[in-house]
Amino acid sequence: MKWTPDDLRHMRRAIVLAENGARTVAPNPLVGCVITSEAGEVIGEGWHEKPGNDHAEVKALQSVSDSNRSMLPMSTWYVTLEPCNHMGRTPPCAALIESVRPRRLVIACSDTNPNVQGGGAGRLRQAGISVETGCLQNEVQWQNRRFFWNALHQRPWVVLKWAQCQNGYLDPRSSEERTPGAGSFALTGPEARAITHDWRSKEQAIAIGSNTALVDNPRLDVREIDAPSPRIILLDPSGELPASHPLFKNAQNLIHVVGSGHAAHGDFGCTWDIHQGIDNLLTKLYGEFGVMSVLIEGGAAVLSAFLDADRWNEIKTWTSAKQFHSGLKAPELPQTLLAPAYESNTEGMSGSDQWNWFIHPRVSKQ
Ligand SMILES: [Zn+2]
Repeated sequence: MKWTPDDLRHMRRAIVLAENGARTVAPNPLVGCVITSEAGEVIGEGWHEKPGNDHAEVKALQSVSDSNRSMLPMSTWYVTLEPCNHMGRTPPCAALIESVRPRRLVIACSDTNPNVQGGGAGRLRQAGISVETGCLQNEVQWQNRRFFWNALHQRPWVVLKWAQCQNGYLDPRSSEERTPGAGSFALTGPEARAITHDWRSKEQAIAIGSNTALVDNPRLDVREIDAPSPRIILLDPSGELPASHPLFKNAQNLIHVVGSGHAAHGDFGCTWDIHQGIDNLLTKLYGEFGVMSVLIEGGAAVLSAFLDADRWNEIKTWTSAKQFHSGLKAPELPQTLLAPAYESNTEGMSGSDQWNWFIHPRVSKQ
């Protein structure tokens, strides 16, 4: 299928609109919609903000002015995801589009929801609308990578994150020197914080191990930006964290993962023993607690466990300008890494710190 420059331009705009929901839309997919007149002018735009709210197609139709409504029968609709055809919390978008009966519908990606697949597009074709799919499909698959991964694997999308010095250490203090309550070592400058908080806000949960919680006591919030704070997951299979730990007091919907025989504190307890393996943990977090994506922030042992089990999808790193020659080693980056293909920025500087963004090679074949 050859797409016209206008098709590509309008679908790109729909992708940009969809991204507005990045911090709020889960567990739903990101969706954007652009409606154009027969002459190719944009007459409507919409995007899906959060579960329970109107879908992108409904918002786009609502945005069409009264004076432009007469153009709708000859309009083209650009939608990043196949319109839904099942009764969810809102009426199906396929019925809405069918009632408007535009001339043409361009879809980037088919939905993988079994209630939807082929349904919305097929119904609209039958209604006499020209339906074309696959316009910027790879870009939209990437944009909705967490959603498609969840549907395929019933596990959260996993992002690993750490900050290291030039020589590959996480902390100039050795494990023995990293004692409970010691506090975190500031490896990156204050300018790095806004980017880190943006990374956090894009995932549904942040996970750290008990040792990091005890030594560093990180705040794990997104205070630098206007976004809901992700859930916190404390991985504590040995049951080391006391109920008095500050993270239990300040976080909402916190999940305390403890080994059998240990007491869980916080809002939710999850029983998991190390010998059950990472897959078992991820399946529980997704199936029992609805965690769609998780940013794993440490410490070294937790990060290494996910790397060793090959259970990660993205890696985001900070490399500080600082240099030290001993301390706690950072994990080794895997041998084969790719940069995200559909992102304009996959590395950059913030103050004197460099950030890098990698994906697992399997992600590009998803
Ligand atoms: Zn819909």
